[in-house]
Amino acid sequence: MKSSREGGGHSRCRRHDGQGRGGLGSRLLNPVSALFKRVWPKHAAPPAPAVAEEHRHDREQFETVLASFRATRIPERLAILDIFLATELHVSISELLEMVGEGRPELRDRAFLQETMQMFCQYGFAQRLDFDSQEPRYEHLHLGQHHDHLICTKCGRIEEFKDDILEALQLKIAESHRFHVLQHKTEIYGLCGRCLASRTPTLPLHLAANGERVRIVKVVAMRENANRLADLGLLPGACLEVVSNHPTGPFVVIVNNTRLALGGGIPQQILVTHLCRHEGDERGETEGPPEEYPRR
Ligand SMILES: [Zn+2]
Ligand SMILES: [Zn+2]
Ligand SMILES: [Zn+2]
Repeated sequence: MKSSREGGGHSRCRRHDGQGRGGLGSRLLNPVSALFKRVWPKHAAPPAPAVAEEHRHDREQFETVLASFRATRIPERLAILDIFLATELHVSISELLEMVGEGRPELRDRAFLQETMQMFCQYGFAQRLDFDSQEPRYEHLHLGQHHDHLICTKCGRIEEFKDDILEALQLKIAESHRFHVLQHKTEIYGLCGRCLASRTPTLPLHLAANGERVRIVKVVAMRENANRLADLGLLPGACLEVVSNHPTGPFVVIVNNTRLALGGGIPQQILVTHLCRHEGDERGETEGPPEEYPRR
């Protein structure tokens, strides 16, 4: 996966929108919340004043918490906190280790870093994100603020969003199940705009992503094989869904409501085009004429 530091793949945290610290969460957590100071690396852009203030609070608070729990190596842990607070990315331990190595090479110790990050999480300064098929990532925990994530399964890019209508809808759904919501995480997996734009309109089936729906454009197999595939419903115009496309497992697709495991280089012989789940949105842009080939 691309490092979030290079190329800025992961979006910056959007919680710093100046909404302040007055949410319910901050009221509930106030005993640990009133305090943080941070040292900005010279090369980093200065943060917005509200952000700097919030991080200063967090740092002071963390120092107090560590002291009260008689934690070891407090100055070193605070140095790591400074480095962590200086990034607004969703960072993995490997990426953080690299950042620590740049600023404080003597603290470049994976086990110590891992332990410290765990402490940040335990005391409510960071939260760990376990996205599908990614190394765990960490982001700042800003009290009383909430957002959800869009995760690109191709490049690993993570984007944040917050939608009040969606939030309210989720509560309404829970309520209709007589379910009391304590917390939730909404994760949407797919292809980011950049990956979608960079992909060619037609691609061999083995390059399609898990969960993707595609339409067959052409089958480039020998005639006998092509006939066999056609008997299974794999012929130009057919739509299929990729169920499983992992390097180590079988390549499984659904065609005509039937699961098919394709082996022996078959996916490489089937050229497909992306078929958006929300067809109306994209039809014509990436697909070309919709009915170029007879549909089944
Ligand atoms: Zn949400
Ligand atoms: Zn992407
Ligand atoms: Zn986030």
